[in-house]
Amino acid sequence: MATIELKNVHAEVAEGDEQILHGVDLEVKSGEIHALMGPNGSGKSTTSKVIAGHPAYDVTEGDILLHLEADDFDGIDEIPESARTWDLLELEPNERAALGVFLAFQYPAEIEGVTMTNFLRTALNAKLEERDELLFGEDEDEDEDDEADAGYETSPMEGPADEGEVGVAEFQQLLSEKMELLDMDAKFAQRYLNAGFSGGEKKQNEVLQAAILEPTIAVLDEIDSGLDIDRLQDVADGINALRDEQGTGVLQITHYQRILDYVEPDTVHIMLDGEIAMEGGPELAEKLEDKGYDWVREQVYNAA
Ligand code: ADP
Ligand code: MG
Ligand code: MG
Repeated sequence: MATIELKNVHAEVAEGDEQILHGVDLEVKSGEIHALMGPNGSGKSTTSKVIAGHPAYDVTEGDILLHLEADDFDGIDEIPESARTWDLLELEPNERAALGVFLAFQYPAEIEGVTMTNFLRTALNAKLEERDELLFGEDEDEDEDDEADAGYETSPMEGPADEGEVGVAEFQQLLSEKMELLDMDAKFAQRYLNAGFSGGEKKQNEVLQAAILEPTIAVLDEIDSGLDIDRLQDVADGINALRDEQGTGVLQITHYQRILDYVEPDTVHIMLDGEIAMEGGPELAEKLEDKGYDWVREQVYNAA
């Protein structure tokens, strides 16, 4: 079971010194669903971006740690003891992603004529290569024994792919399993990147990315915004499937309570002015629906 832990995280805009986060404490374990709620401008997206390592923000104080257990990655028998605790602030964004911390990526606008399938396979292979480098060292020679040393259970020999890569046929199989899990139309994956996806399709894409990359912790920022009720239900089912079928921990960032009717959080965290101001169970989200964020503000200020 993986845990991501934010301890007293302070962050500011990299260009300049405007403080946005003033000591955020948050812990998410795989298999759990956490809702991070708060009014606009409270620092929710900044929190997601500092977890992912976005260069626009500097963390000036505090820690972001990732704790792994020996068997956290399918296909790896045992993560070495020396590679079980990570200071994410020391790692590049792609390295954090390789260790299973997922924040949806935007498809680069300039890519033409690349199918979703090819793009996702490339992303998965890049992630696996980076991950094994981090876990087992910079063993980058083309030695045929590398994958055996790295504890692979599956044969890297299938298909025309390079050693250790997920080949075309193997990936097709994986993709159809994941699309079935998410109840998505198989045709979806044959579409070209940026070929006029609707808002709802982009959100479903985000869930599909997470299903393919099998993160330990997925951060989903406002995945519910602008969705009609049917699409919201589909996206919510997908998030539940990530948790139930692959044990992903989810940090669900949302302004509104609505999606939480379909994705029940274990814990609700409410952010105000760059700090977690209040925490509770699912009932807290319902209370918010009735009373609004001003109620939280009053509670916090009255208590102070
Ligand atoms: P939320 O996602 O909760 O709406 P954000 O994390 O996006 O809030 O923003 C929190 C505060 O930080 C806002 O006041 C916003 O204007 C400010 N902020 C965020 N990113 C930047 C940036 N890159 N440059 C300047 N101010 C920023
Ligand atoms: Mg700065
Ligand atoms: Mg935001």
